[in-house]
Amino acid sequence: MSEEMSKPVPRPGILDIAAYVPGKHHAPGVAKVHKLSSNETPLGASPKAIAAFRAAAEKLERYPDGQALELRESIAAVHGLNPANIMCGNGSDELLALLCHVYLGTGDEAVITEHGFLVYKIQIMGAGATPVTVREKDATVDVDAILAAVTPKTKMIFIANPGNPTGTYVPVSEIRRLHAALPKNVVLVLDAAYAEYVRRNDYEAGIEIVSSNPNVVMTRTFSKIYGLAALRIGWMYAPADIIEALDRIRGPFNMNAPAISAGAAAIRDQSFTQEAVAFNQMWIEKMTVALEALGLKVTPSVANFILVHFPDVDGKRAPEADEFLTSRGYILRAVKGYGFANALRMSIGTEEANRGVIEVLGEFMGRKS
Ligand SMILES: *Cc1c(COP(=O)(O)O)cnc(C)c1O
Repeated sequence: MSEEMSKPVPRPGILDIAAYVPGKHHAPGVAKVHKLSSNETPLGASPKAIAAFRAAAEKLERYPDGQALELRESIAAVHGLNPANIMCGNGSDELLALLCHVYLGTGDEAVITEHGFLVYKIQIMGAGATPVTVREKDATVDVDAILAAVTPKTKMIFIANPGNPTGTYVPVSEIRRLHAALPKNVVLVLDAAYAEYVRRNDYEAGIEIVSSNPNVVMTRTFSKIYGLAALRIGWMYAPADIIEALDRIRGPFNMNAPAISAGAAAIRDQSFTQEAVAFNQMWIEKMTVALEALGLKVTPSVANFILVHFPDVDGKRAPEADEFLTSRGYILRAVKGYGFANALRMSIGTEEANRGVIEVLGEFMGRKS
């Protein structure tokens, strides 16, 4: 009996995928833990979203609305969009997976960038296609590098804008220049998970460019500014043909009922959202100044996290800093897997957590190595 017939064998390529490793949750032996490793908001969800979630608990025996209409209409109302062009997913992760399974297959290529979100690579390979990774420039997506990698085999391009873990962004003029030079059959995916945080005149999440083209989609999430990471809610704004194609393979009830209700309430509470934006803006600025004052390098961030670079000095590198911070209850994100072996990513936390990190890093940088 041949080896292949003695047990189930995954499709070629599946076992080449490195599984996603989420941010750490635990700091063993520490009484109070501040989790700053997954870019969750320190402010929690809107009280209106929590109330909607509780109300949904009364009807758990019913299947959810397979169209998630309440949620799609709420998103559409807030962003001025047609609900027909919105699809919701169990986190934007699910939408990224559906896109790959619909538009990629064996022999196809998809372009990703050096420090891009690891989920893209996993889903591209999961669909049997080949990820083609291009360099970034100063931890920022480089449109010319992407264009240079496009071949007749290219079917998709993935850009996180702003980037994670970099926190940098690509101006809308550059996104337009990229799109204009792409073949019409290539799907350009704009992952705007942190769009709500960005305060830059030359940034756009992608609504305009999706509205006027058949081959661009924008994905968004409720996991970051809306504080609903636990419920897994993502959405995509896309041309009708793309929505229609994904609808054919989407799970018929991919959105659960508490997520639909809570998500709708969260996005309609824009005053809470604006408070979250203001809080973040203030702390991104304060943390950047404070970290630089400690002699650390910081990549300028427009999102809700900061990439902190450590000195190339024995005892002062990122792994040692990670261990020191964890021992004090501050969990940051190691980003070696993203191409930054000597940096940590810190999500903006509560005032207490932010001040704590500065204090502990001050001690770390000042100690004798
Ligand atoms: C957090 C994040 C997402 C959101 O994923 P969900 O599945 O919606 O929680 C998507 N893209 C990037 C780049 C992210 O950092």
